[in-house]
Amino acid sequence: MKRAPVILGGKDLEVEEMLPPAEERTLPHKWLPKEATSLYADSKGAEMYLFKTAEEKVRNHALSQVKPGLEVMGFLLGEVFTHEGVEYTVVRDVATTDLEATSVSVRFDPEGFESLFDSLECARFRYVLVGWYHSHPGHGCFLSSTDISTQKGMFDRAYHTALVVDPIRKEMDAFCLSNGEVRRRKFLVYWDEFQNPYYGESVRPRKIRM
Ligand SMILES: [Zn+2]
Repeated sequence: MKRAPVILGGKDLEVEEMLPPAEERTLPHKWLPKEATSLYADSKGAEMYLFKTAEEKVRNHALSQVKPGLEVMGFLLGEVFTHEGVEYTVVRDVATTDLEATSVSVRFDPEGFESLFDSLECARFRYVLVGWYHSHPGHGCFLSSTDISTQKGMFDRAYHTALVVDPIRKEMDAFCLSNGEVRRRKFLVYWDEFQNPYYGESVRPRKIRM
């Protein structure tokens, strides 16, 4: 039987102490833009760990709309943990829905939120909404003024990440708000012990009817 997952709001969030994914099972994203690389010069942990399968869904979703030249977007679902006093998030999955998109914008319907999560099919995790992703086909990874408004309006917690992907330039980067200002966020792709990181499976985000 399939049941909807529990999507927790940030309010009652209990942040557990947890070891982040082991270093040998993490890598910086292969599409990281040049200007982001200085953040990755040390071997310090990341603020966000993106599960390999979720990463593939985001990338394939963006790539699937390269031909029509449309933006895509969706939500990052996962967990918030702390380790030695430092908070980090783990993105386990992503979800999307039908979008009204153009090459420079994608419509974000707050009313769609509830039904979106109601209809999610996986019940194995108690997910927290930890951010959102969207694409900038051909114009690089940054947060536009509209994106910043979205971030401030809906994703203003420290653990909220805005993941941006450019499927044409082949770039992916992450951002967050820090004291009301946008800054880049270090994120690493990780995989579970039983997964072969080089196995090129093709996955797409779930399409949810609303
Ligand atoms: Zn944007």
